[in-house]
Amino acid sequence: MGEDFLVDVSAAGTGDFICDRCGDPVHQELQGQVKTLFISGQSAEESGISDEVRFVTQENQTIDVFQDAVDAMQLAVPVKILCRESCLGLCPSCGKNLNEGPCACRRESGDGRWDALKNLNFDK
Ligand SMILES: [Zn+2]
Ligand SMILES: [Zn+2]
Repeated sequence: MGEDFLVDVSAAGTGDFICDRCGDPVHQELQGQVKTLFISGQSAEESGISDEVRFVTQENQTIDVFQDAVDAMQLAVPVKILCRESCLGLCPSCGKNLNEGPCACRRESGDGRWDALKNLNFDK
């Protein structure tokens, strides 16, 4: 007590995602890192410091980094998830997965956007 703690939280895990282009499942490893400052002996109300800073009080002398680990993992999730860089996506007309071969439509590729269904699984 009487000291502040800068806690470096590293989290690693895997996530199951959906490819933004073709909709295939993508299993991706993630690694995230956040730093959280824990300050001892005060409460948030007294100090007026933002949520970024946590407090270790006399009554509660524990540092709980679970939420920080979750934050780190969420920050590690890429904005765009692709099963591979060269993913061809789906045909906008017939919906065929063009990674499996060309379809009969022979149309130029559109941008079939799929909502990324984010489904994080934490190993720990
Ligand atoms: Zn894909
Ligand atoms: Zn087609």
